[in-house]
Amino acid sequence: MGQTTATLLEIASKLAQDLIQSIREIFVYASANYFRFTILSFLIFWVLFKDRLAHFRIQPRPKTKTKVILREVGFSLSTFVVIGTINWFLNIVLQGRYGLFYDNVYSDISTYGWSYFCLSIFLLLVIDDTYFYWAHRLLHHPQLFRRVHKVHHYSIDPTPFSTYSFHPLEAAILFFGYRLTPSIIPVHNLAISLWLLLTLLNAIVIHLGYEIYPRWFTKSRLTNWKTPSTHHNMHHAKVHGNYGLIFTWWDKLMKTEFPDYQAQVEAVQQRKLTLQKKK
Ligand SMILES: [Zn+2]
Ligand SMILES: [Zn+2]
Repeated sequence: MGQTTATLLEIASKLAQDLIQSIREIFVYASANYFRFTILSFLIFWVLFKDRLAHFRIQPRPKTKTKVILREVGFSLSTFVVIGTINWFLNIVLQGRYGLFYDNVYSDISTYGWSYFCLSIFLLLVIDDTYFYWAHRLLHHPQLFRRVHKVHHYSIDPTPFSTYSFHPLEAAILFFGYRLTPSIIPVHNLAISLWLLLTLLNAIVIHLGYEIYPRWFTKSRLTNWKTPSTHHNMHHAKVHGNYGLIFTWWDKLMKTEFPDYQAQVEAVQQRKLTLQKKK
């Protein structure tokens, strides 16, 4: 009996150590990526050059107060604790069984060739965008919105720190997509890293509060299927519409694009040009 208790304590202690290690690892990753890019873009757009870049603002009068930004940082930190815990649960407790574990990762690019390598990054973005759209629609169910998703919507005029500002349950739902997506198609490790980098940069850009895509990009049929910053900014300002993350396809298909979205993008771009000329 005494030996069984000692063994159980040993297992519990090992699991606790692994959990701390997993959370520590995700904070190392976050410091190298998430916080570096969010702090850098916040300093450039919201502090150092905010007057010089004012014509890029999507919502002309900033509504974000310091307390909102501090809350965003706090929820971003809790998101990384959630991610570290999920990684620990999937990798250590379940030991990578039951799927979701990048089973399809290959190490030699020549296995499928460079064309597939590039295509796989695009496919990861498409799968990720699809997962996000439907998870996001679910989070807008009145019950879930009130209890969970409203945390992300505290930011009416989003900042780079809104990017990962989630209720812990939302962080878990969304992070599940990051584990699921690369399990669906064969992927190279480098493709996963590039996809993660692209999704992170995209998420920061759409929460920037500034429209950095040029007018031709948001007008041309060749490129307007990519969500500009205004697309998600409108979601924060008006809430029930424009649910997409990377592409505008799902919102068009499901008719959830705000009816005034195109007019709003054009207005933002026009204001940018007019104010730029005045300078
Ligand atoms: Zn958002
Ligand atoms: Zn939402």
